[in-house]
Amino acid sequence: MTKAAPYSVLFEPVRIGPVTARNRFFQVPHCNGMGHVRPQAEAAMRGMKAEGGWAVVCNQETEIHPTSDLSPFAENRLWDARDIPALKLMTDAVHDKGSLAAIELVHNGNHAQNLLSRAPVLAPSDMSLDSSYPKQARAMDKADIRDFRRWHRDAAIRARDAGFDIVYVYAGHNMTLAQHFLLPHMNDRIDEYGGSLENRVRLTRELLEDTREAVGDTCAVAFRFAVDEMLGGDGMQAAEEGRAVVEMLAELPDLWDVNVASWANDSITSRFQPQDGYQNDYISFVKSMTSKPVVGVGRLTSPDMMVSMVRKGIVDFIGAARPSIADPFLPQKIQEGRVDEIRECIGCNICVMADSVGAPIRCTQNPTMGEEWRRGWHPEIIAPKGRENDALVIGAGPAGLECAMQLARRGYQVTLAEASDELGGRVLSESRLPGLSAWGRVADHRAHDLRQRANAQIFTQSRLGADEVLELGIANVFVATGSHWRKDGIGRSTLRTPPNVDAKAAVFTPDDIMAGVRPPDGQVVIYDDDHAYIAGVIAEKLAQDGYKVTFITPESLVSSFTTLTLEQHRIQARLLELGVAIICNHTLAAVTPDHVRVACGFTERPQEISCSSVVLVTERRRETTLYDALIDTELTTLELIGDAAGPALIADAVFAGHMAARNFERPKADIESDWFRREITALVAGV
Ligand code: ADP
Ligand code: SF4
Repeated sequence: MTKAAPYSVLFEPVRIGPVTARNRFFQVPHCNGMGHVRPQAEAAMRGMKAEGGWAVVCNQETEIHPTSDLSPFAENRLWDARDIPALKLMTDAVHDKGSLAAIELVHNGNHAQNLLSRAPVLAPSDMSLDSSYPKQARAMDKADIRDFRRWHRDAAIRARDAGFDIVYVYAGHNMTLAQHFLLPHMNDRIDEYGGSLENRVRLTRELLEDTREAVGDTCAVAFRFAVDEMLGGDGMQAAEEGRAVVEMLAELPDLWDVNVASWANDSITSRFQPQDGYQNDYISFVKSMTSKPVVGVGRLTSPDMMVSMVRKGIVDFIGAARPSIADPFLPQKIQEGRVDEIRECIGCNICVMADSVGAPIRCTQNPTMGEEWRRGWHPEIIAPKGRENDALVIGAGPAGLECAMQLARRGYQVTLAEASDELGGRVLSESRLPGLSAWGRVADHRAHDLRQRANAQIFTQSRLGADEVLELGIANVFVATGSHWRKDGIGRSTLRTPPNVDAKAAVFTPDDIMAGVRPPDGQVVIYDDDHAYIAGVIAEKLAQDGYKVTFITPESLVSSFTTLTLEQHRIQARLLELGVAIICNHTLAAVTPDHVRVACGFTERPQEISCSSVVLVTERRRETTLYDALIDTELTTLELIGDAAGPALIADAVFAGHMAARNFERPKADIESDWFRREITALVAGV
């Protein structure tokens, strides 16, 4: 393996207290929905990052005590010694590939609900929970603080015993007790733990000292600190108390892991922050205040940006959560001079969505993410082809592109036919909407890969009918013909009473708007019964194009699904700033040429809203004409994949394409008997 000279600085070893990282690539803590519930899956996923070249691989927030119980979410858990074996699976997997394993110990304070443990919730001061659960946290007294320090110390010792090399003290994301004590808006104590900054820092200082004393001879002590809450004067600011905290604790930890809070700012989507390295302005002061190594994040996928951050003295380590999810082999690809093969994160936060709903992680760009253990999928390795030679993939959206790419990687002669003159399908259309240009990377990565392969042929402007398919004489056919937004207003809230849509009304769908159709000038109503991002982003576009827009939804929030991708607040704020009128909790009843009639979702009271056109964002119809026409033919393989099989997220379409390629030529009985491995909790006596 030769080092790519321009990036060689990224492959220098860096010392962190008593341990040494083999290079500067640092997978910072990130949730994956596996945690203590699926420890084998967790271990395999982290081990894959180590195999891909991340010198430090962290787990996710790790509850130290039943008073920090995040159930039903499956984070990591280290309440007592019985949790050690599950975590040891991960440290073994990471060590096996030559990397350091780090653990993010956490007490979540009022961010925990303690639904499983039913323990009291703890906080610096009396306050509500950080959720709508109607329970309050109680102010910790001195005995609680002593207990907390003991729990943290004991957890650090257990972490060392589980094999971790780096132990975190965590004060970030507005989710942890240590940070809550630091913040005046959460801490109104009048004892030595409240008031002055020195007092508010006291607990963090004690945790760092306790951790060092407990495990510092063998483990490095890392401090994850949110230097800025991005609330201006209403919160912690990097230039004010953020800086002062770093100055006060400068040499105490062995490593500074610095970022911004809250999570929605730290993991901001590309729609609202297109720049990589977007945290640099906040964190760049840290290195000048400490001799200890610093790690920072900011959706870093460009090796040039990474090198410049190291050379400019902004960081010692390139921190990444999402870029390491999208491409666990990012470091190795840079090291081997294969930069064009990096699967760049698109900043869509579907990975975050999975965590938000308590499901195992998934990724739009990397369909193998989360499948390492249960399906045995490797992001860079796929089984070679079997007896068949040729495959035809019809449709070059995310499903077709991924399927074709993986089939080509397996060694088949692949023909990819696309009706339009460009590759990408819905990804291409959606990436042209405001803020979504980074999504184009889903198509670019796959198209680039396919174009390098001698065994892949790509035909654009090639709409195939059944006759053309049969004329090609390729016996294995994958149909990825996608879906179209329906125009009749039928959706989840109108199933029982479909709206009355007048044939003379000017009605459009997202497909029309993405194809460049302009509704007549005037007032446009957007009716959103989809609740994901598309209606909101179309409202943004039409408002920017000068239309007067009214956004109507049966939900109580605009684009309510995007709460899960940490964007909802920004989306609704942006629409309001653009002057979009918002009507929530109303269901579509009728569309006429000059108004829509909606009804209150609770009282059914009707309301009429004047408009000259309507964009209906309700459901999609599967495009199965070609598939249906091929069903009774003599093809060896005929498979419908992606949105044509079931409209869903882009991530689901990529996954479907990948799955079809992996399963091609696998016996059906094997596929059905081995859907995926499950971690079944066994009743074990004495535990
Ligand atoms: P998915 O998300 O499942 O990949 P998309 O809607 O993004 O689906 O992509 C489907 C693609 O299939 C579109 O680019 C469309 O132009 C193409 N397509 C649809 N029907 C045909 C056909 N009969 N022949 C070739 N391409 C087709
Ligand atoms: Fe990046 Fe989206 Fe993958 Fe998350 S799901 S890692 S944001 S591409």
